[in-house]
Amino acid sequence: MRKVKKVVNKDLFDEYGYRILGDDDEDDNVVVDPKLGSSVGCQASNVANKSLCSAEEIAKNGSKIHIKADITSISENNKIVNFIIDGKEHKIKANEAIISTIPLHVLTKLLNKKDENITNALNQLKYMDIIFVYLFVNKPKISNDHWLYFPDADIIFNRAVEFSNWSPKMCPEGKTSLCLDMTSFDKDPVWNMKNEEIVNKCIADCDRIGLVKKEEVFDSLVVRAKNAYPVYDIGYMDRLTKLVKSIEQSKKIYCLGRTGIFRYHNSDGSIEMGFELAKNLLKGNKEFTLLGFESKEYDL
Ligand SMILES: Cc1cc2nc3c(=O)[nH]c(=O)nc-3n(C[C@H](O)[C@H](O)[C@H](O)COP(=O)(O)OP(=O)(O)OC[C@H]3O[C@@H](n4cnc5c(N)ncnc54)[C@H](O)[C@@H]3O)c2cc1C
Repeated sequence: MRKVKKVVNKDLFDEYGYRILGDDDEDDNVVVDPKLGSSVGCQASNVANKSLCSAEEIAKNGSKIHIKADITSISENNKIVNFIIDGKEHKIKANEAIISTIPLHVLTKLLNKKDENITNALNQLKYMDIIFVYLFVNKPKISNDHWLYFPDADIIFNRAVEFSNWSPKMCPEGKTSLCLDMTSFDKDPVWNMKNEEIVNKCIADCDRIGLVKKEEVFDSLVVRAKNAYPVYDIGYMDRLTKLVKSIEQSKKIYCLGRTGIFRYHNSDGSIEMGFELAKNLLKGNKEFTLLGFESKEYDL
């Protein structure tokens, strides 16, 4: 166990810091302050002070982070990524290798890979999508729980998250919110419902089961995320292995991350993968792959 000089608000985030950094890390000044909730875990732990993780450090080292970039194609042979930001075309050439966290179906299109084996493997490798409905609620608390699960077929959502139970700072005083998850494939009826219909059904179900009263909801927001969950069905590992080996065979491109290498990990596992890949590439170990990666300390 590592020594900790200072821990503010000790909870799962101090664990989080240990898991990412590992026991061999010299720096024992872990500061954990997740007042703004789950999304600031990485910044709050001293991972943010590591040059590999913080945007400021990346800029100091002369590198650039582009956001809101639509990647239009990737040329594997000369290691060039073409992308558009605000309608303007750009390109970047990788010195060593391209590292991708893009879903495999999208990546293979961008690489223009048309091999029959790849197409077959891709056709049977599925990600599940998700719709989030946020209900903004005019009362301080709905329940004492962070997550509540709803397996019932007659309830449209399968999970409810009350973020103010992660941290009260995540909501204005006297108010709270619920994030309702609806996992689905894009061909499922729920994916094709209009946002307004989904919100109305969510509110009606919340009201019916006694979670939130209709009149307590003062606003809502719908967010749809594609490729949220890699689906581990029978035979997926064989298909994944074929696919990733074929993408990485040139040693000019590496797959990484939850959607990028189809590994059902939380943020700590995804970040750990990044450290593993970086360590190996810096050692010149070009044969390294994250296929079948198991986090050292995290149970899937
Ligand atoms: C519903 C849900 C709940 C979760 N809850 C938790 C939790 O409570 N705690 C936790 O630790 N983890 C949680 N996770 C997991 C966590 O979000 C992931 O492990 C982590 O974000 C994966 O990091 P990543 O870098 O692999 O991928 P991402 O964070 O998904 O990053 C991939 C990036 O690539 C971009 N991208 C994709 N395609 C393109 C393209 N064609 N062009 C340009 N950019 C592209 C995306 O926009 C995205 O920014 C949850 C995940 C989901 C889906």
